[in-house]
Amino acid sequence: MKNLSNKTALVTGASRGIGAAIAKRLAREGANVAITYNSSPDRAEAVVKEIEAAGGKAIAIKADSSDPNAVKAAVDKTAETFGGLHVLVNNAGIAMLKSVEDFTLEDFDLHTSVNIRAVFAGSQAAIKHLPRGGRIITIGSCMAERVAGPGGSVYAMSKSALIGLTKGMARDLGPKGITVNLVHPGPTDTDMNPADGVGADWQRSMNALGSFGSVEDVAAMVAFLAGPESGNITGAGMLVDSGNNV
Ligand code: NAP
Repeated sequence: MKNLSNKTALVTGASRGIGAAIAKRLAREGANVAITYNSSPDRAEAVVKEIEAAGGKAIAIKADSSDPNAVKAAVDKTAETFGGLHVLVNNAGIAMLKSVEDFTLEDFDLHTSVNIRAVFAGSQAAIKHLPRGGRIITIGSCMAERVAGPGGSVYAMSKSALIGLTKGMARDLGPKGITVNLVHPGPTDTDMNPADGVGADWQRSMNALGSFGSVEDVAAMVAFLAGPESGNITGAGMLVDSGNNV
């Protein structure tokens, strides 16, 4: 019996990067997996095919996280398709790094809608489906607590907001036996932050291990939080960041 046999997970923004790795890892743990995507239908379908080829069950749902109704509909569609929902992973996120002087209000609003409001809307929609033992796991960032260089003000703010939201939801949902946690990746090799990109060596120089993380590192932490051994952990923020914040 695998850790997540007979369980269903929804991972937002899982056509690529960290979300795709989480979806594949949760499927390997035995979960039926739904993923959302916005602009990469082919890559989302490839994730589904890979899970199915390994013997798992998966679906891809188009849901722009800047639209709270689309996120809510994705939650309900997941529960309807697989007959329930046990794990919600709020992963979809955007990061525009530029000086506060250059940030437009439109870009500010996009960050708050995708990185914060979608987490609220998806989590709220999930509550009616989640049983005791249900899990809400959100992907934050090491930048929630440490902004090591210029250009990160709005992105960092959006991730800091998730700390309060997570702690508050943990209090609200504790009596229902639902845990709510954050995972804070450090520099992780994806399209958003390539390990060979401009600034990658600078990021390595900022952390204790001098390394860049992999998407599998983050997926492993999510798998632990989604699994049966994490039931006494809620309202927590878990750093998977090469020691960026030490
Ligand atoms: P990525 O490589 O840019 O991938 C982003 C994923 O999110 C894609 O699957 C994308 O789907 C989806 N997405 C973006 N905007 C969306 C929207 N409006 N609606 C629905 N889906 C949307 O990013 P990543 O590095 O994997 O980041 C994943 C999470 O980790 C984010 O929350 C990010 O803030 C966080 N994080 C990343 C790092 C890092 O160094 N990589 C560090 C700390 C935290 P489509 O392609 O279909 O649009």
